[in-house]
Amino acid sequence: MSSENRTSVPNSLNEHWMPFTSNKDFKANPRLITAAKGVYLTTHHGKTQIDASSGLFCNPLGHGRREITEAVTKQLEVLDYAQPFQQGFGGSFELATRIAKHTPGDLNKMFYTICGSTAVETALKIAIAYHRAKGHGERYRFVGRERGYHGMNIGCISVGGMVNNVKAFASVLMPGVQHIRHTHLPEHKFVSGQPETGDYLANDLESICANFGGENIAACIVEPIAGSTGTLVPPKGYLQKLRDICDAHGILLIFDEVITGWGRTGSKFGADEFGVTPDIMTMAKATTNGVVPMGVVACNDFIYDAVMDASPKGAVELFHGYTYSGIPVAVAAALAVQDIFEKDDIFNRAKNLAPYFQKGLFSLQDLESVDNIRGYGMMGGIDMKLNTKPGKAGLECFKACYEAGVNFKATGDCLIIAPQFICEEKHIDEIIDKLRTGITNYQKNQKN
Ligand code: PLP
Repeated sequence: MSSENRTSVPNSLNEHWMPFTSNKDFKANPRLITAAKGVYLTTHHGKTQIDASSGLFCNPLGHGRREITEAVTKQLEVLDYAQPFQQGFGGSFELATRIAKHTPGDLNKMFYTICGSTAVETALKIAIAYHRAKGHGERYRFVGRERGYHGMNIGCISVGGMVNNVKAFASVLMPGVQHIRHTHLPEHKFVSGQPETGDYLANDLESICANFGGENIAACIVEPIAGSTGTLVPPKGYLQKLRDICDAHGILLIFDEVITGWGRTGSKFGADEFGVTPDIMTMAKATTNGVVPMGVVACNDFIYDAVMDASPKGAVELFHGYTYSGIPVAVAAALAVQDIFEKDDIFNRAKNLAPYFQKGLFSLQDLESVDNIRGYGMMGGIDMKLNTKPGKAGLECFKACYEAGVNFKATGDCLIIAPQFICEEKHIDEIIDKLRTGITNYQKNQKN
């Protein structure tokens, strides 16, 4: 590697085994980010890029927010850590109260976790704990959905529906998990927003109830919009059908809102946007604007009450928790984020910007190598036409776009686009222009 810019380029790349990365490819031609401010990133070549995916959906308020930095710094100076078991500190209670003001229905009880994956694992455990508390230990089964992504722990990949995870770790998956079909149908090609057709796919849950006994199922977990596999938007009426089937069989409905939470759909939560309230809801990504890892599980009051009531006084009611559950530094960041949500009217800002972003996103459909585009609110997925083997087009196109000055995430052959909510229309224009340049350059490279 060149010795230019020594302070930001490490001497050796060998020892770090990078996550979800083609390590060999990356280490031959690394892409390092050295600074970030607002909607822009700086690369180790000193080039500026626009962030078109809010990091991994987690920095909607922009990079380097002074208010968050100050809150975190102040917290570290006063109280750097407090044990979360059998003791606590005021901030975590204040944060739970503030989150409860936003969560829909009676989702008023917050359990803190470390990230999205641990939020999902916690949600699954809470579902089991609830049914046991009600005397229904036989409800051990879960239902997930194809093309769902719920994180990387064993429970997460068991209910998730990403084929490579399932294939690679088949030997350790949780037993008793069934999957309903995903909701993306061929007739949804280039459909913006919610498709008109496909609500019948929710009946897959009814079939699973018929085959395995609805009375044996603890919970059904879905993302309101499947984010990581490329913005699979639920057909109109679909989520309500899932809700109705869950109610008919006493099954808890879990919405994984790790991506869709905190404004990404144009409402605070996907639950609000689609008018369907789950019993348990996970959130993570935007909770701290990505600066400190944190996840939150919001539970309906009836779940919390049942678990509390089933335990003798003085006993630990739920045998679950993490060393870093709601630690002061994460809470400080999350409280600062809550302040910004209010001060900058962030959810309305996202809602107002969404149509402009969607128009720009769908303007890319004339590009030869674009196979499909889906979008909703401030999220979108661009499927690239397959190139020799799955995943190659996505990575090569990502690299061409990186060179063109636009940064995002590619999952397989899908480009995941999720701009920051602080974007102005000119930033959306810049993202779309640079995507067009990058994708066009990728097309040219393929022909040469
Ligand atoms: N759930 C959903 C819907 C996600 O999109 C993700 C991550 O992308 C996760 C869970 C896992 O979150 P984390 O990577 O913070 O563990």
